[in-house]
Amino acid sequence: MKVGIMGGTFDPIHNGHMVAAETARDAFGLEEIWFMPSHIPPHKHAAGVSGEDRLALVREAIRNNSAFRILDWEIVRGGVSYTIDTIRMLQERYPEVEFYFIIGADMVQYLPKWKDIDELARRLTFIGLSRPGIPLDLGALPSHIAASVRLAEMPEIGISSTLIRERAASGRSIRYLVPEAVYDYVVRSELYGVQP
Ligand code: ATP
Ligand code: MG
Repeated sequence: MKVGIMGGTFDPIHNGHMVAAETARDAFGLEEIWFMPSHIPPHKHAAGVSGEDRLALVREAIRNNSAFRILDWEIVRGGVSYTIDTIRMLQERYPEVEFYFIIGADMVQYLPKWKDIDELARRLTFIGLSRPGIPLDLGALPSHIAASVRLAEMPEIGISSTLIRERAASGRSIRYLVPEAVYDYVVRSELYGVQP
């Protein structure tokens, strides 16, 4: 069985994440996509809302898609979330699964900085997807890392969680930039400064 892991801070989850996951599923014949929110990402600011709220937002986003699941291990584990730690545990728990890890073009360029990237590259295949303004190529990567990355084009979506947070904070609409159910949850819970 082939499973794609869609990792991220998801602060909040948005339609760029949804299209990335669906594009990877479709292009590589993945049976399921497991969305995995990180607790504290290694190379970024801590998330703006709690792990519980970010999990709830992901749950809302994937609600109507039986191929999309949620994996809460990193939030439950707490601390800084290193992908290698989670993948070791996943492969022990699910030895029959062939894991893919889905990333946007910005993360492709960043791979050499990931903890234990050489081991990670042996354990799984990365799927790198296009993101506006960022070249999607493997030229800058060491060849043994590049060998573990497959690339796929997706319709470029100029949405980021940063954009959503900035728009929400300044009172601009985020409706239709995130799945409808995510929008409803954000409004209901008054996350990111959005007022009902
Ligand atoms: P932030 O602005 O807070 O960094 P983000 O939009 O980049 O948020 P992340 O949670 O950091 O979202 O991203 C999770 C994964 O999804 C990363 O691999 C990222 O490259 C990818 N991704 C996010 N948005 C897009 C998009 N619009 N198109 C393609 N990939 C994306
Ligand atoms: Mg990001």
